[in-house]
Amino acid sequence: LVVLKSVNKHFGALHVLQDIDLTITRGEVVVVIGPSGSGKSTLCRTINRLETIDDGEITIDGKPLPQEGKALARLRADVGMVFQSFNLFAHKTVLENVMLGQIKVRKADKTQAAANARALLDRVGVGTQADKYPAQLSGGQQQRVAIARALAMDPKVMLFDEPTSALDPEMINEVLEVMQQLARDGMTMIVVTHEMGFARSAANRVVFMADGRIVEEAAPDQFFSNPRSDRAKDFLSKIL
Ligand code: ATP
Ligand code: MG
Repeated sequence: LVVLKSVNKHFGALHVLQDIDLTITRGEVVVVIGPSGSGKSTLCRTINRLETIDDGEITIDGKPLPQEGKALARLRADVGMVFQSFNLFAHKTVLENVMLGQIKVRKADKTQAAANARALLDRVGVGTQADKYPAQLSGGQQQRVAIARALAMDPKVMLFDEPTSALDPEMINEVLEVMQQLARDGMTMIVVTHEMGFARSAANRVVFMADGRIVEEAAPDQFFSNPRSDRAKDFLSKIL
Protein backbone atom coordinates (compact mmCIF):
# COMPACT_ATOMS: atom_id res chain seq x y z
CA LEU A 1 0.00 0.00 0.00
CA VAL A 2 2.76 2.44 0.97
CA VAL A 3 6.15 1.93 -0.65
CA LEU A 4 9.31 3.96 -0.07
CA LYS A 5 12.26 3.25 -2.34
CA SER A 6 15.75 4.67 -1.72
CA VAL A 7 14.31 7.77 -0.10
CA ASN A 8 16.84 10.43 0.84
CA LYS A 9 16.34 13.77 2.48
CA HIS A 10 18.68 16.45 3.79
CA PHE A 11 18.10 19.40 6.05
CA GLY A 12 21.07 21.48 4.93
CA ALA A 13 24.13 19.43 5.86
CA LEU A 14 22.09 16.92 7.87
CA HIS A 15 21.28 13.72 6.00
CA VAL A 16 18.06 13.07 7.89
CA LEU A 17 16.75 10.15 5.79
CA GLN A 18 19.33 7.83 4.22
CA ASP A 19 18.30 5.29 1.59
CA ILE A 20 15.04 4.41 3.27
CA ASP A 21 13.34 1.33 1.79
CA LEU A 22 10.06 0.46 3.42
CA THR A 23 6.94 -1.36 2.26
CA ILE A 24 3.75 -1.35 4.26
CA THR A 25 1.06 -3.73 3.12
CA ARG A 26 -2.66 -3.26 3.60
CA GLY A 27 -3.80 -3.93 7.16
CA GLU A 28 -0.27 -3.95 8.53
CA VAL A 29 0.65 -2.15 11.75
CA VAL A 30 4.25 -0.94 11.74
CA VAL A 31 5.74 0.61 14.86
CA VAL A 32 8.74 2.89 14.30
CA ILE A 33 11.12 3.38 17.20
CA GLY A 34 14.54 4.89 17.63
CA PRO A 35 16.50 7.58 19.43
CA SER A 36 15.55 11.23 19.37
CA GLY A 37 16.65 12.87 16.13
CA SER A 38 16.84 9.61 14.19
CA GLY A 39 14.33 10.85 11.60
CA LYS A 40 11.10 9.15 12.69
CA SER A 41 8.92 12.26 12.46
CA THR A 42 10.52 13.31 9.20
CA LEU A 43 9.80 9.85 7.78
CA CYS A 44 6.11 10.17 8.70
CA ARG A 45 5.91 13.69 7.33
CA THR A 46 7.31 12.68 3.94
CA ILE A 47 4.53 10.11 3.51
CA ASN A 48 1.81 12.77 3.44
CA ARG A 49 4.13 15.27 1.84
CA LEU A 50 4.43 17.65 4.74
CA GLU A 51 8.11 17.28 3.79
CA THR A 52 9.50 16.87 0.29
CA ILE A 53 12.23 14.34 -0.47
CA ASP A 54 15.51 14.92 -2.34
CA ASP A 55 15.51 11.63 -4.20
CA GLY A 56 13.93 8.22 -4.21
CA GLU A 57 10.27 7.40 -4.61
CA ILE A 58 7.19 7.19 -2.44
CA THR A 59 4.02 5.60 -3.79
CA ILE A 60 0.61 4.93 -2.29
CA ASP A 61 -1.47 2.31 -4.08
CA GLY A 62 1.22 2.35 -6.75
CA LYS A 63 0.79 6.05 -7.46
CA PRO A 64 3.47 8.67 -6.78
CA LEU A 65 2.53 11.35 -4.25
CA PRO A 66 0.84 14.34 -5.88
CA GLN A 67 2.72 17.63 -5.76
CA GLU A 68 0.04 20.23 -5.19
CA GLY A 69 -3.54 21.39 -5.37
CA LYS A 70 -6.63 19.27 -4.85
CA ALA A 71 -4.74 16.04 -5.37
CA LEU A 72 -2.46 16.96 -2.48
CA ALA A 73 -5.45 17.73 -0.25
CA ARG A 74 -6.88 14.30 -1.12
CA LEU A 75 -3.54 12.67 -0.33
CA ARG A 76 -3.57 14.28 3.12
CA ALA A 77 -7.08 12.87 3.58
CA ASP A 78 -6.00 9.41 2.41
CA VAL A 79 -3.06 9.52 4.81
CA GLY A 80 -4.53 10.43 8.19
CA MET A 81 -2.06 11.92 10.63
CA VAL A 82 -2.20 12.23 14.40
CA PHE A 83 0.49 14.30 16.09
CA GLN A 84 1.82 14.59 19.60
CA SER A 85 0.06 17.94 19.93
CA PHE A 86 -3.55 17.40 19.07
CA ASN A 87 -3.81 20.25 16.54
CA LEU A 88 -7.58 20.62 16.79
CA PHE A 89 -9.23 23.84 15.63
CA ALA A 90 -9.65 25.70 18.93
CA HIS A 91 -12.51 27.92 17.77
CA LYS A 92 -14.59 25.02 16.44
CA THR A 93 -16.57 22.50 18.44
CA VAL A 94 -15.52 18.88 18.63
CA LEU A 95 -18.27 17.94 16.20
CA GLU A 96 -17.26 20.69 13.74
CA ASN A 97 -13.64 19.57 13.95
CA VAL A 98 -14.64 16.11 12.78
CA MET A 99 -17.08 17.41 10.12
CA LEU A 100 -14.89 20.00 8.44
CA GLY A 101 -12.58 17.88 6.28
CA GLN A 102 -15.43 15.65 5.18
CA ILE A 103 -17.23 18.67 3.76
CA LYS A 104 -14.22 20.48 2.31
CA VAL A 105 -12.17 17.61 0.90
CA ARG A 106 -14.57 14.69 0.60
CA LYS A 107 -17.51 16.88 -0.49
CA ALA A 108 -19.91 15.26 1.97
CA ASP A 109 -23.13 17.14 2.70
CA LYS A 110 -23.58 18.60 6.16
CA THR A 111 -26.14 16.13 7.47
CA GLN A 112 -24.13 13.17 6.33
CA ALA A 113 -20.88 14.63 7.74
CA ALA A 114 -22.52 15.30 11.12
CA ALA A 115 -23.94 11.79 11.35
CA ASN A 116 -20.61 10.27 10.42
CA ALA A 117 -18.81 12.53 12.92
CA ARG A 118 -21.15 11.51 15.76
CA ALA A 119 -20.68 7.84 14.96
CA LEU A 120 -16.89 8.24 14.99
CA LEU A 121 -16.91 10.24 18.22
CA ASP A 122 -18.95 7.43 19.80
CA ARG A 123 -16.49 4.91 18.46
CA VAL A 124 -13.54 6.64 20.17
CA GLY A 125 -15.56 7.14 23.35
CA VAL A 126 -16.14 10.91 23.30
CA GLY A 127 -19.65 11.04 21.86
CA THR A 128 -20.93 13.05 24.82
CA GLN A 129 -18.35 15.80 24.20
CA ALA A 130 -19.49 16.66 20.67
CA ASP A 131 -20.71 20.18 21.39
CA LYS A 132 -17.79 21.29 23.55
CA TYR A 133 -14.68 23.14 22.42
CA PRO A 134 -11.29 21.38 22.45
CA ALA A 135 -10.01 23.39 25.43
CA GLN A 136 -12.86 21.98 27.56
CA LEU A 137 -11.60 18.41 27.03
CA SER A 138 -8.79 16.48 28.67
CA GLY A 139 -5.69 15.72 26.63
CA GLY A 140 -6.73 12.11 26.18
CA GLN A 141 -10.16 13.17 24.95
CA GLN A 142 -8.65 15.73 22.56
CA GLN A 143 -6.34 13.12 21.12
CA ARG A 144 -9.26 10.76 20.57
CA VAL A 145 -11.09 13.58 18.76
CA ALA A 146 -7.98 14.04 16.59
CA ILE A 147 -8.13 10.34 15.74
CA ALA A 148 -11.84 10.60 14.90
CA ARG A 149 -11.13 13.61 12.70
CA ALA A 150 -8.52 11.68 10.73
CA LEU A 151 -10.82 8.65 10.47
CA ALA A 152 -13.63 10.84 9.15
CA MET A 153 -11.67 11.21 5.92
CA ASP A 154 -11.87 7.45 5.41
CA PRO A 155 -8.07 7.21 5.16
CA LYS A 156 -6.15 4.38 3.52
CA VAL A 157 -3.44 4.58 6.13
CA MET A 158 -3.05 6.30 9.48
CA LEU A 159 0.21 7.83 10.71
CA PHE A 160 0.66 8.39 14.42
CA ASP A 161 3.65 10.44 15.58
CA GLU A 162 4.09 9.91 19.33
CA PRO A 163 0.36 10.33 19.92
CA THR A 164 0.59 9.72 23.67
CA SER A 165 3.83 11.42 24.63
CA ALA A 166 2.19 14.74 25.53
CA LEU A 167 -0.43 13.04 27.71
CA ASP A 168 -0.63 12.59 31.45
CA PRO A 169 0.01 8.94 32.32
CA GLU A 170 -3.58 8.16 33.23
CA MET A 171 -4.75 9.23 29.77
CA ILE A 172 -2.28 7.23 27.75
CA ASN A 173 -4.20 3.97 27.90
CA GLU A 174 -7.49 5.38 26.68
CA VAL A 175 -5.74 6.56 23.52
CA LEU A 176 -3.76 3.35 23.08
CA GLU A 177 -6.96 1.33 23.43
CA VAL A 178 -8.56 3.27 20.58
CA MET A 179 -5.46 2.59 18.49
CA GLN A 180 -5.51 -1.10 19.43
CA GLN A 181 -9.11 -1.35 18.31
CA LEU A 182 -8.29 0.40 15.06
CA ALA A 183 -5.50 -2.09 14.47
CA ARG A 184 -7.86 -4.99 15.16
CA ASP A 185 -10.36 -3.49 12.71
CA GLY A 186 -7.71 -3.82 10.01
CA MET A 187 -6.52 -0.23 9.58
CA THR A 188 -3.09 0.14 8.00
CA MET A 189 -1.04 2.05 10.56
CA ILE A 190 2.43 3.53 10.96
CA VAL A 191 3.00 4.39 14.60
CA VAL A 192 5.97 6.23 16.10
CA THR A 193 5.81 5.52 19.80
CA HIS A 194 7.80 4.77 22.93
CA GLU A 195 4.94 2.60 24.23
CA MET A 196 6.58 -0.78 23.97
CA GLY A 197 3.49 -2.54 25.33
CA PHE A 198 1.55 -1.24 22.35
CA ALA A 199 4.34 -2.31 20.00
CA ARG A 200 4.35 -5.82 21.44
CA SER A 201 0.62 -6.32 21.30
CA ALA A 202 -0.45 -4.40 18.19
CA ALA A 203 2.49 -4.29 15.79
CA ASN A 204 3.08 -6.75 12.99
CA ARG A 205 6.54 -5.31 12.58
CA VAL A 206 8.95 -3.04 14.41
CA VAL A 207 11.19 -0.72 12.42
CA PHE A 208 14.18 0.58 14.34
CA MET A 209 15.77 3.80 13.08
CA ALA A 210 19.04 5.45 14.01
CA ASP A 211 20.85 8.34 12.32
CA GLY A 212 18.39 8.52 9.45
CA ARG A 213 18.64 4.84 8.55
CA ILE A 214 16.48 1.81 9.09
CA VAL A 215 18.91 -0.26 11.13
CA GLU A 216 16.68 -3.19 11.87
CA GLU A 217 13.20 -4.53 11.04
CA ALA A 218 11.63 -7.50 12.78
CA ALA A 219 8.51 -8.96 14.31
CA PRO A 220 8.03 -7.43 17.78
CA ASP A 221 8.71 -10.67 19.69
CA GLN A 222 11.93 -11.16 17.84
CA PHE A 223 12.99 -7.54 18.07
CA PHE A 224 12.45 -7.17 21.80
CA SER A 225 13.83 -10.54 22.84
CA ASN A 226 16.64 -10.74 20.35
CA PRO A 227 17.71 -7.44 18.77
CA ARG A 228 20.49 -8.03 16.25
CA SER A 229 22.21 -4.64 16.03
CA ASP A 230 24.25 -2.99 18.76
CA ARG A 231 22.31 0.23 18.20
CA ALA A 232 19.03 -1.51 18.93
CA LYS A 233 20.46 -3.36 21.96
CA ASP A 234 21.76 -0.10 23.35
CA PHE A 235 18.44 1.68 22.71
CA LEU A 236 16.38 -1.07 24.32
CA SER A 237 18.64 -1.22 27.37
CA LYS A 238 17.84 2.45 27.96
CA ILE A 239 14.09 2.32 27.57
CA LEU A 240 13.00 -1.10 28.87
P1 ATP B 1 12.20 12.67 18.27
O1 ATP B 1 12.21 11.30 18.86
O2 ATP B 1 12.93 13.66 19.12
O3 ATP B 1 10.83 13.13 17.87
P2 ATP B 1 12.73 12.10 15.47
O4 ATP B 1 13.30 10.74 15.29
O5 ATP B 1 11.28 12.27 15.21
O6 ATP B 1 13.10 12.60 16.93
P3 ATP B 1 13.06 14.14 13.48
O7 ATP B 1 12.10 15.09 14.09
O8 ATP B 1 12.63 13.44 12.25
O9 ATP B 1 13.56 13.06 14.54
O10 ATP B 1 14.37 14.94 13.21
C1 ATP B 1 15.53 14.35 12.67
C2 ATP B 1 16.63 15.39 12.59
O11 ATP B 1 16.27 16.38 11.66
C3 ATP B 1 16.90 16.10 13.89
O12 ATP B 1 18.29 16.28 14.04
C4 ATP B 1 16.20 17.43 13.72
O13 ATP B 1 16.84 18.42 14.46
C5 ATP B 1 16.30 17.66 12.25
N1 ATP B 1 15.18 18.43 11.71
C6 ATP B 1 13.88 18.07 11.79
N2 ATP B 1 13.08 18.96 11.15
C7 ATP B 1 13.92 19.92 10.65
C8 ATP B 1 13.72 21.09 9.88
N3 ATP B 1 12.50 21.50 9.48
N4 ATP B 1 14.82 21.82 9.56
C9 ATP B 1 16.04 21.43 9.93
N5 ATP B 1 16.32 20.31 10.66
C10 ATP B 1 15.26 19.57 11.01
MG1 MG C 1 9.71 12.98 16.33
